[in-house]
Amino acid sequence: MVEILKREIIGQHDGPHLLITGGVHGDEFEPMRAIRRVGAVVTPDALHGRLTLVPVANEAAFLRGTRTAEDLLDLARTCPGKPDGTITERTAFALSQLIRTADYYIDLHTGGNTMSVWPLVGYKLVPDERMLDAQRRMARAFNLPLVWGTDYRLEGRTLSVARDAQIPSIYAEYLGSGLCDQNGVDAYVDGCLNVMAELQMLDAASLPHHPLTSRIEYEVDDYRESAGHMQIRNQSPCTGFFEPAVTLGQTIAAGDPLGDVCNTLGTERITVRANEGGIVIVLRTFSRVMQGDALAVILETELIHNNP
Ligand SMILES: [Zn+2]
Repeated sequence: MVEILKREIIGQHDGPHLLITGGVHGDEFEPMRAIRRVGAVVTPDALHGRLTLVPVANEAAFLRGTRTAEDLLDLARTCPGKPDGTITERTAFALSQLIRTADYYIDLHTGGNTMSVWPLVGYKLVPDERMLDAQRRMARAFNLPLVWGTDYRLEGRTLSVARDAQIPSIYAEYLGSGLCDQNGVDAYVDGCLNVMAELQMLDAASLPHHPLTSRIEYEVDDYRESAGHMQIRNQSPCTGFFEPAVTLGQTIAAGDPLGDVCNTLGTERITVRANEGGIVIVLRTFSRVMQGDALAVILETELIHNNP
C-alpha cells in the first residue's frame, strides 16, 4: 500500500471536509508550494470543518522530477487504480480512497516540465444539477481568468473518482515549464482560501483580498466528448526542435502558424498551423518534441462567443 503524505487541520467549528491535492504529476511545482502555504495560513480556531492537504500526491514521480513514476503510467489516467499493481496503480488506489473521504475536492496542476498553461480552473459538466452548481460555485470562487466546464465522461482522473463518489470537485492549471512561478503560487493560495470561504469553512472577511475582485475573463461550457483532454490537440507531425510562433494567451485564427518543427541543422522545417482559431491556452515550452506530442491547445472562438 502506498502512503499518501498528508497534513490534516481539524477546525474548532463544524463544517465540511475539503481535500486539496498537488503533485498528481511529479513535475508540477506551484501546487506543492501553494498547498504547504495554505497549511501555514489556516488555523484550527478559524476553520469550520476539516482540511486535508496533500502537497505531493505522486511522490515517486516527484522524486524523479518527471510527470510520471518509473512505470511511466499517468496517475491522472490510472485512477481508481488497484491495491496490488505497479507503483502508479497503487498510488492511484490510495489517492482514490482518500478522495472518497472528502466532501469537496480541489486538484491543482500545471503544464509540468514541457508545457505552459494559461491560468484556468475546470470542472466536469456532470448531469447532477446540485453537484454541477456546487462545482461552478467553487470554480468561480477560485478566481482565475478562465472557468472551463468540460466533458464529464473522461475516465481515470482524480475528478472521475470524485464524480463517481458525488463529491463536488474542481481542478486548476497555472503555467508550468518546470518552474515554480511566484504569481502562480500566490494565485493558488488565494484560490484555495476563496473556495474555503465560499464553502463557509473560513470567514470571507478574514481573507487578505477581501472583498474579492473578479479575475474571470471567460466562462466556457464545452459539452463535446473529450473536451478538456489536452494531449490530443495540434500534434507535432515529426520529431525535432519546436520553435513557437505564438505566445500563451494570444488570440489566433484557424490556419495561423503555431510554429515550426525543424531538424538539428534547421535545413528542414515543417510549419504547424492551428487546427482551430481562438486563444492559445496551452503551449509547449520544452523545445525537443516527439512526433505526436501536443504543441498547443486552442480555446475555440466559437465556444467563447456561444457562452454568455
Ligand atoms: Zn498535471
